[in-house]
Amino acid sequence: MTYLVTGATGQLGGLAVRHLLDRVPAADVAVSVRDVSKAADLADRGVDVRQGDFSEPDTLRFAGVDTLLLVSTNGPDEIRVGQQNAAVDAAVRAGVSRIVYTSVSDATGSPLGLAKVHAATEEHIKASGVPYTFLRNAMYHENYLGGLPQSLESGTHVTATGTGRVASVSRDDLALAAAIVVTGEGHEGAVYELTGPRAWSFDELAAIASDVTGKPLAHVSVSGEDYLANLLKAGLPPFLAELFTDIQVNIGRGALSEVRPDLGKLIGREPKTIEEAVRAAL
Ligand code: NAP
Repeated sequence: MTYLVTGATGQLGGLAVRHLLDRVPAADVAVSVRDVSKAADLADRGVDVRQGDFSEPDTLRFAGVDTLLLVSTNGPDEIRVGQQNAAVDAAVRAGVSRIVYTSVSDATGSPLGLAKVHAATEEHIKASGVPYTFLRNAMYHENYLGGLPQSLESGTHVTATGTGRVASVSRDDLALAAAIVVTGEGHEGAVYELTGPRAWSFDELAAIASDVTGKPLAHVSVSGEDYLANLLKAGLPPFLAELFTDIQVNIGRGALSEVRPDLGKLIGREPKTIEEAVRAAL
């Protein structure tokens, strides 16, 4: 069996490879990465490191691969759709037996702008005829940790989420689930909605961070327009500022609050909570 992971020099893909290596011999694991020098540690462990860039389809080498873990790329949406379709087409050409794709919560019904890319890729995979599994990943806990130290300095944590809740999830739990699905059987055609164990509000997040550090922290919610303007003023590329604002506004509307049991069933335990993630980060 050969399992190939794309995006293996990224955060989710890197963790998925680590979990794969806990389960199968390194000789059964391959990765496709843009920059092979970033995967030198994997090559040293005996992983087959292949150079490949989704933007240059001829570089994608999936020959001999049984199961492909296709990690969605980052960047502007219009570029990602073409990149991911090219990766699926390369998998078809190479005769890959199964594609496991990291999608997003409720990809085909979600009001989030970013869901369109994932819905389009899911559709392309289905149309390819290759057996598939979709891992519809919820927002990572980690998305909500990086800004906390700065917020704790100022005493306010600014969002555009109102009283909305998000059922966020540990990136590492998602990577573990990916490794389990990739190496396991009976997942063909499955669409897993992988969320955290509960939906929390940003008032709660501020209270948890305050509790952990002993510093006061208040959550302040502003309008989507003001939030976007702040991100642009801070120098974020417009596509990212718009993406982040869209997520926040949709959290405010309840779009990412549904808790589903799929992840706990796959990994055989309760997924990590936001409290655990905040404690570890702070
Ligand atoms: P990440 O650390 O940014 O990793 C993205 C990976 O995609 C990197 O390994 C990157 O390669 C690779 N990539 C980008 N463009 C590529 C191309 N043209 N050809 C081949 N590989 C390419 O993100 P992550 O945290 O691992 O998350 C994985 C994916 O989930 C993201 O790419 C994004 O689609 C999505 N995402 C989900 C959430 C969430 O909260 N659920 C949050 C952010 C992103 P390099 O290593 O060479 O840069």
